Amino acid sequence: MATILEIEDLSVHFPINIGTVQAVQDVNLRLEQGEVMGLVGESGCGKSTLGFSIVRLLRPPGKIVKGRILYHGQDIVQMSQKEILSLRGRKIAMIFQDPLTSLNPLFRIDRQFIETLFTHERGLDKKTAFRRAEKMLESLGISPERLSEYPHQMSGGMRQRIMIGMGLILNSDLLIADEPTTALDVIVEAQFLDLLNDLRRQYNLTIILITHNLGNVAQLADRITVMYGGTIAEVGQANTIFEDPLHPYTQGLLSSIPNIKLDQPKLKTMPGSPPDLVDPPSGCVFHPRCPYDKEICRVQKPETFTEDGRLVSCWLYG
Ligand code: SF4
Repeated sequence: MATILEIEDLSVHFPINIGTVQAVQDVNLRLEQGEVMGLVGESGCGKSTLGFSIVRLLRPPGKIVKGRILYHGQDIVQMSQKEILSLRGRKIAMIFQDPLTSLNPLFRIDRQFIETLFTHERGLDKKTAFRRAEKMLESLGISPERLSEYPHQMSGGMRQRIMIGMGLILNSDLLIADEPTTALDVIVEAQFLDLLNDLRRQYNLTIILITHNLGNVAQLADRITVMYGGTIAEVGQANTIFEDPLHPYTQGLLSSIPNIKLDQPKLKTMPGSPPDLVDPPSGCVFHPRCPYDKEICRVQKPETFTEDGRLVSCWLYG
């Protein structure tokens, strides 16, 4: 498989009045064409910041202070505003929790599709653009008649599908989905994940699924990246991570999922709370919560080790 995205030593900081939030620190990640990567971790672990960095949509004062993001070998960090505008939406699409805030409430869906096409494909005539919008809606399982409707007339699931369609109509090959099912009920959520799976096969789409919902990841992802405190804790095939998590944080995360098959009077939880990223703990950022921490963990950042073909940042494997 060809590599579509390679992130090298990426650090993203947010200078604020009490210091600097080290939201993403020295992250390395590689994605192959056509795979689904689940990016998981607690709120504030840096997973959404990483997604926004890839499309250069960081809100000020956030900035990339170090590293490279190579998309088909081209460094997104070094791109001019003009270059990034032609890439964003056209080759890399991003969908968010609430699609209603991403669609223009004043315009019908057909106009939003057509304007997207006109912005990126100069010289296209309106009739062809409309036909392509109709076809796209059909492949998303929505009747083309609904092109004449406004976003508020559609359900949350339909709006989310429309947002994906806006990316796919321009032949994007990388989709970043940031908590895409949070606003959906469980039935629509399951349908939406099935659709993502179909689209990924149909278009050889690479997907980064950012979520705290491990059920979504289990259903869709080929590989999983677990983030903690702005760093990567573990990367591996989804089934092996679920069966045999290596990093103590991943182990804690998975054991805190309720299991109706077990007689558990009390749900397992992880002690402590996520780190303060203005003043992160020394050494391993997880050490104040880790049941296995040792001397070296408190003073030295763990290196990334390869264990059974997986990557894990923990001194237990050094
Ligand atoms: Fe725990 Fe040490 Fe591993 Fe960090 S490096 S997860 S503190 S054992």
